[in-house]
Amino acid sequence: MSSDSKQTRAIFFDRDGVINARILGGYVRHWNEFELLPGVAEVLHEIKNRGLLAIIITNQRGIGLGLMSESDLHSVHNELQKTLRAQAGVTFDDIIFCGDIDDRPGRRKPAPTMLLEAAERWNIDLPNSWMIGDSMSDIEAGARAGTKTAYLVTQHSEEIPRATKIIHDLKELLEFI
Ligand SMILES: [Mg+2]
Repeated sequence: MSSDSKQTRAIFFDRDGVINARILGGYVRHWNEFELLPGVAEVLHEIKNRGLLAIIITNQRGIGLGLMSESDLHSVHNELQKTLRAQAGVTFDDIIFCGDIDDRPGRRKPAPTMLLEAAERWNIDLPNSWMIGDSMSDIEAGARAGTKTAYLVTQHSEEIPRATKIIHDLKELLEFI
């Protein structure tokens, strides 16, 4: 496939800690445990307004650990999309997850695999796209896929990684993407 002007820019989002509140030491297994963070619907609406793709890239180790099933995960994501459609009239274009327990198979972040899968599926212009996350592994995955990266500082942040941008609120994205 040749890279041409039909390529689209994408904003890749980590999920836990960026889209919804993290459950420390646990997993969101049901929709009633999913706390959508403020600003997400608004930011997504603006991203879609600008003609960009919005894609979630998420490690969901709880599946590999047997704490939840893929079908549990799909129902959480269906409810998320329904809620965003109701709140902002838009949805994420894609949600790509990895249920593996460890890094060995090479698909979990910090591997760039899921971003590369998305790029192939949606014909994405990676160097002009952004990966947004609250973990080192998100920033590493983005960098290895060749995207720009934005690190979201949260109350759980310990070390701030070297990223293209450091943000403290998701809405700051709208200033530079
Ligand atoms: Mg996270």
